Amino acid sequence: MMYDDNNIFAKILRGEIPCKKIYEDDFVLSFHDINPQKKIHALVIPKGKYIDLDDFSNNASSDEMVGLLKGINIVAKKLGISVDTGKGYRALANINEHGGQEVPHLHFHLFGGEPVGKMVQ
Ligand code: AMP
Repeated sequence: MMYDDNNIFAKILRGEIPCKKIYEDDFVLSFHDINPQKKIHALVIPKGKYIDLDDFSNNASSDEMVGLLKGINIVAKKLGISVDTGKGYRALANINEHGGQEVPHLHFHLFGGEPVGKMVQ
């Protein structure tokens, strides 16, 4: 599968569509989900063109991998949901068809601010 340059997160990364930004560095952009499922629902996406976690794991550089994981932690701290600043959260990545992925640019959902319930419904 080829990366689709017209997916909505690619447009957000290019600044063509606005987002409610939480954090940005060389490796990641984070913003609030437009349709929050919990009190806090943030997205963290790599800046590189990766379709999903498998694509990222196969093709991203070590720096990009570290940058994404560190980005998730930085965002969780900023939102007050990390273990040291709050009560924890769920990080979730949907992958392809059976994972229910809708936007074909890798993203981690961070859910928190309240108990987030069972892992899979
Ligand atoms: P997924 O099903 O894992 O691909 O999740 C895609 C997520 O992107 C959903 O939670 C949507 O609400 C969210 N989303 C779609 N468009 C936007 C947007 N323009 N800004 C922020 N979040 C968005």
